[in-house]
Amino acid sequence: MNSGVLSQPTLVLNRSWMAIATTTVRHALGMVFSGSAKVIRPDTYETHNFETWSDMIVEPEEPFIRTVTLRIKVPEVIVLTGYNGVPAQTVTFTRRNLYKRDHNTCQYCGCRPGNGELSIDHVVPRSRGGKSTWTNCVLACVGCNHRKANRLPQEAGMRLLTKPEAPHWTPVLEAPVGRIRQSWERFVSDRYWNTTLEP
Ligand SMILES: [Zn+2]
Repeated sequence: MNSGVLSQPTLVLNRSWMAIATTTVRHALGMVFSGSAKVIRPDTYETHNFETWSDMIVEPEEPFIRTVTLRIKVPEVIVLTGYNGVPAQTVTFTRRNLYKRDHNTCQYCGCRPGNGELSIDHVVPRSRGGKSTWTNCVLACVGCNHRKANRLPQEAGMRLLTKPEAPHWTPVLEAPVGRIRQSWERFVSDRYWNTTLEP
């Protein structure tokens, strides 16, 4: 029961109350306990340290964390006491993000045959030590993939339309659907989300 609550999400704000990440309830409580963060009550914006938070009365219907001696309310939002930056906004290298970066377009001939007809091409083939990275992977259509085979583009007489790079689009806080708390709404502007808030 407790492990379920502890792995639920908590929103993390930096010292300026800007939403920068999500973490687990477990990790959030650890940060509050160590003093590197405070809990924010979403309804009143009161901040609490571990002592005052663990002193809060848990309503009968509320989820809580049970320790040996305490019942602690689940922290839904915390604010860091020291950190005021915005973490490096890197976009994770995933198949889905690669399709997004390349606009579902073959990077050799520019066709858009539909996602089922596109595959990921390693510019430097894996057989020659090419890695699965933003700068070595592009989308290619079946025809171009077949033509290029296990060669470098120049060996196959092919050209990339654009130089592959890590994308620069504004990332969102990538909380999976259904893992977003309604109480976060007032701390996060709509532009952060690529998904609707769950009631
Ligand atoms: Zn192509």
